[in-house]
Amino acid sequence: MNIHEFQGKSILKAYNVDIQEGFVAETPDQAIMVARQLREKFGSEYFVVKAQIHAGGRGKGGGVKLAKSIEEAGMLASKMIGMQLVTPQTGPAGKKVNKVLIAQDVYYKGESDIKEFYISILLDRKRSRYTFMYSPDGGMAIEEVAEKTPERIFTEEIDPGLGLQSFQCRNIAFNLDLTGNAFRNMQKFLAGLYEAFTGCDAQLLEINPVLKTSDDRILAVDSKVVLDDNALFRHPDLAEMRDISEEDPVEVEAGKNNLNFVKLDGNVGCMVNGAGLAMATMDIIKLSGGSPANFLDVGGSANARTVEAGFRIILKDPAVRAILINIFGGIVRCDRVANGVVEAYKIIGKINVPVIVRLQGTNAEEAKAIIDNSGLKVYSATSFKEAAEKVREVLGV
Ligand code: GDP
Ligand code: MN
Repeated sequence: MNIHEFQGKSILKAYNVDIQEGFVAETPDQAIMVARQLREKFGSEYFVVKAQIHAGGRGKGGGVKLAKSIEEAGMLASKMIGMQLVTPQTGPAGKKVNKVLIAQDVYYKGESDIKEFYISILLDRKRSRYTFMYSPDGGMAIEEVAEKTPERIFTEEIDPGLGLQSFQCRNIAFNLDLTGNAFRNMQKFLAGLYEAFTGCDAQLLEINPVLKTSDDRILAVDSKVVLDDNALFRHPDLAEMRDISEEDPVEVEAGKNNLNFVKLDGNVGCMVNGAGLAMATMDIIKLSGGSPANFLDVGGSANARTVEAGFRIILKDPAVRAILINIFGGIVRCDRVANGVVEAYKIIGKINVPVIVRLQGTNAEEAKAIIDNSGLKVYSATSFKEAAEKVREVLGV
């Protein structure tokens, strides 16, 4: 689960990680109030107005702006709230800005003795270990650093039995060229970061930039936190941070129906049980000249209701020119799925794209008979290959 920058920073703060302080605002008036508070509490002269959307690269797209007065913070907020923000990560349609974070200017009017770092903690699945990935070249797209100067990216792997060791923190601070107070502050920063990461069962914690201020403080200026969905039951307070308005509405609907759905950009809708079979089905669609419009795993207990929900979700995509239902009846009986398809067809009414159904496994023959005798414009296939050929035929490729 993704969360907003301001939510990530609130987690960090709770773990004693120093952050660029700020508060979220949903209206220009709130933004002015927040700026006043920041001036009172922290003596901030300048402020930054930051669009809160679930995407990075906001700086490049005009979603991070410096305000030189309280009034300007209000003005920038009024421009930003409600805008459709396009960044390198949002796609061309962009994302609507509903909230902005008004934060203190920690670059102190552009003083020169500052440094921006990149620091993240992630799970290295190959090594089965949490790993710090960091670079002295922060502030810019880390992908670019990785491509052009890979030697400027460092890693520090954490032994799960020992946890983060102080020599490792020193090593990181050393590689970041820090000395004196900044070196010491970085130790505390890293320890807090690691506690926050493990404490909230995160999958990714990425701070870009981490800032060394001109007075040698180490601050999280940005935060990207991805929480592990499977551990959210342990963190009801974090689960509440979910912002459904940031998620793909079709994927949200699929989730409500217990369907694993990922939207893709092809023309053949897929409804499959089991993730492995779903992947194989997408492969064979590709081989037969089509391209999958989605990944959809209906799970082990497909019935009329799940099939209907799956149909509705797939049919929302105007690019879909055919639907391939590929079910292996292991636990689920094929005749039950076939009845589900027929019923769903009747409930939804007009389904104008050809549907190819392959049901294999328990009661496959009964299932085929149900489909063939239904009078519906549904093609039944027995083998995988036959299903692929039917797809080719209906697409006319
Ligand atoms: P992102 O572009 O979505 O990653 O958003 P960030 O939070 O990383 O902000 C983008 C850029 O805005 C940073 O790299 C900084 O250069 C700049 N920025 C952020 N906070 C401040 C600030 O307090 N003062 C100034 N002058 N610039 C800031
Ligand atoms: Mn950033």
